[in-house]
Amino acid sequence: MSPPIAHECDVAIVGLGPVGAALANLLGSAGVSVIALERDAEVYPLPRAVHFDGEVMRVFHSMGLKAEVEAVTHPGLKPMEFVNAQGQVLMVRGGNALKGPHGCANNHYFNQPQLERVLRQGLARFAAVKVLTRHDVFAIAEDGSGASLSVENCANGELLGIRARYVIGCDGARSLVRRLMGSVTEDLGLHQPWLVFDALLKRDPGLPDHTVQYCDPARPITYCNLRGDRRRWEVMLMPGDDPVAIARPENVWKLVAPWISPDDADLERAVVYTFHSVIAHGWRRGRLMIAGDSAHQTPPFLGQGMCAGIRDAANLAWKLALVLRANAPDALLDTYESERKPHVRAFIELAVRLGAIIQTVDADVAAERDRKFAAGDPEVFTFPAPGLGPGLRSDEPAPVGQPFPQPELADGRLLDCELGGRFGLIGQAALIDHADGATRRRLRDAGVVELDDRHPGLRAWLDAHDARAVLLRPDRYVAGIARDPAGLARLAALLPHARAA
Ligand SMILES: Cc1cc2nc3c(=O)[nH]c(=O)nc-3n(C[C@H](O)[C@H](O)[C@H](O)COP(=O)(O)OP(=O)(O)OC[C@H]3O[C@@H](n4cnc5c(N)ncnc54)[C@H](O)[C@@H]3O)c2cc1C
Repeated sequence: MSPPIAHECDVAIVGLGPVGAALANLLGSAGVSVIALERDAEVYPLPRAVHFDGEVMRVFHSMGLKAEVEAVTHPGLKPMEFVNAQGQVLMVRGGNALKGPHGCANNHYFNQPQLERVLRQGLARFAAVKVLTRHDVFAIAEDGSGASLSVENCANGELLGIRARYVIGCDGARSLVRRLMGSVTEDLGLHQPWLVFDALLKRDPGLPDHTVQYCDPARPITYCNLRGDRRRWEVMLMPGDDPVAIARPENVWKLVAPWISPDDADLERAVVYTFHSVIAHGWRRGRLMIAGDSAHQTPPFLGQGMCAGIRDAANLAWKLALVLRANAPDALLDTYESERKPHVRAFIELAVRLGAIIQTVDADVAAERDRKFAAGDPEVFTFPAPGLGPGLRSDEPAPVGQPFPQPELADGRLLDCELGGRFGLIGQAALIDHADGATRRRLRDAGVVELDDRHPGLRAWLDAHDARAVLLRPDRYVAGIARDPAGLARLAALLPHARAA
């Protein structure tokens, strides 16, 4: 028998890692009532993510936490390098601008527990967001109008029920919600244990101030400069390594002896993780959905696992808000998986390819790899820029389905400050002002913010894409572009209709 219902809400979030906390902030900002359930008392303390990108900073900005996040991060301004055992640079990740297309630095470094605390503290701003830590969800029963969650209060063993219209499983790699949904996971091929630890410097023995992937077949190692005195090492386990013994401090110090000694730094706890590459099929079943590591996992060579989860949250939050607050059809939520899955898959597949370069342990294969790279200049690559899959967008090619940049407007404010969490239509006044009546009504009913092209940054984008208008979604992805009145009417038709009352 299910425990009696103690609380009701629009959205129950299972798991308050970075993805659950980001989703709760976004939904709280949109006025949606949320209960976030987390089995642990505190944020997960062990070393995990160190990097997020400019698009993710833009999402933090949209939830009103940019300054707080900036206070615990630092921008990475030097490119990540892949070097071989002889110290030659094989490959470089470019795109390290201090001010990139999202109106902020392209790369940010941080300590995951600090960032998670900022996200959790942000939830205190919302009266309609309730956080229940030390609450473990152990069953979910779905019906036509919502779902009932069975929850154990781990502090006192009490069982309670939560009633929600939708349940989002942000419950990590071993997701209960994913299992209850019956989603299958596809293996994308990489599973490799690595030892991960942070060192807190007492003095700097001249360490690099950028990320270096040491592609040494004798022992692949990743080094990162996080923030302040914190430095990260990730050390691949070699065949025959004992995963328990290797994490002991005396062994950890031996592994980093080429860079630091106990005189230079204190070690934070070392832990062995197996990096995985998997993607789930079936991110939604009725009232249940999954986001973040519960839907996909990537090896961290691009620093994109959490980023992908934050993008899931940004994609889902405005859709949930429209369905719950503006009577948009529930089918809008089906676009979540169709849009997000191909996007995250592109990142995982590139991370797996990079893994094949970094994780080479055969000396002959590594020598051949180095010879190929040495034949040219170090190869420069940037993050992939995949588009969203099919969903709430026209079926034109890029830039449709990609994030719209965030230029400053004529008054110096950033574009997103003007748009808030709404759809935006940017275009030539001559086109927008003369839209037909039906188009105007659709724009008005959907609360679309209109901006004309007198702002130089916006005009430059329209000119570059030979467009007279562009429709932006609340997550700032380009829904479509118009070149004439008929094209503008097609853009307006993309906007979700309210269901009949
Ligand atoms: C070594 C390493 C380096 C990484 N580097 C990067 C990087 O540089 N950049 C990047 O973007 N990503 C990186 N990642 C990935 C990133 O850490 C994860 O993608 C991210 O933590 C996933 O967040 P999440 O919220 O989806 O899941 P989690 O962080 O796993 O959170 C899930 C939460 O759900 C809770 N939970 C689970 N089940 C229940 C239940 N039944 N009831 C209640 N609560 C429950 C758990 O206690 C947990 O708090 C790295 C990962 C590792 C291991």
